[in-house]
Amino acid sequence: MSEPTPVRPQTLAQIREHARRHPTDPERPLVICDVDEVVLHFLAPFEAHLGEQGFAFLSHEYKLTGNIADTAGQLLDGAAVRALIQGFFDDWAPRQEPVEGAAEALRSLSDKADIVFLTNLPGDWNREPRITNLAGHGMEYPLLTNSGPKGGAVAALAAGRRAPVIFIDDSATNIVSVRDSHAMSTLVHFIADRRFFTGAGEIDGVALKTHDWRDAGAYIRNRIGA
Ligand SMILES: [Mg+2]
Repeated sequence: MSEPTPVRPQTLAQIREHARRHPTDPERPLVICDVDEVVLHFLAPFEAHLGEQGFAFLSHEYKLTGNIADTAGQLLDGAAVRALIQGFFDDWAPRQEPVEGAAEALRSLSDKADIVFLTNLPGDWNREPRITNLAGHGMEYPLLTNSGPKGGAVAALAAGRRAPVIFIDDSATNIVSVRDSHAMSTLVHFIADRRFFTGAGEIDGVALKTHDWRDAGAYIRNRIGA
């Protein structure tokens, strides 16, 4: 177990505004869903973006920092990786492709549950292009932005909810943070890219690890009694 993650003020302000616009029904399930590598492809286009700039992943172990090098094999440090990620989203946020089955699964769940996107998206200016892109792929749900581990944001979003809360993310850091900050959440570890799915370790407390929205949708429908 790690310490619960605090929620960042910028995210808490969005959560409060969201609650004002969408008053909570405590008996309605809540699905808190990540975006990158869960409902939009991230790793494959990011890999292409790396290649265009003369960089590559060293392995399919599920991490970015410590796993990207130049053609000479020189590892990039954290600041260089963050700059590459920012450049990727500035270029790609309006046009990332949807993960197969995501829109259909969320639409089917939305009859019985509230759906919220919680995304760690660098650059406030990329928020609206992302919302427009998601809507164009049939995923028009409230979107909140966060940075860092998501546990505090999930605990704040789920406050007062008596029905099941489902959290879906590809990042082990976020899964562990939510597990240790909001024990009531049901955790779905979702990684669309098969290579990185295979390379990702098992995490204690995860209810379902999958790369397939048919499995995720069926599991969540069962969990919420839909
Ligand atoms: Mg993600």
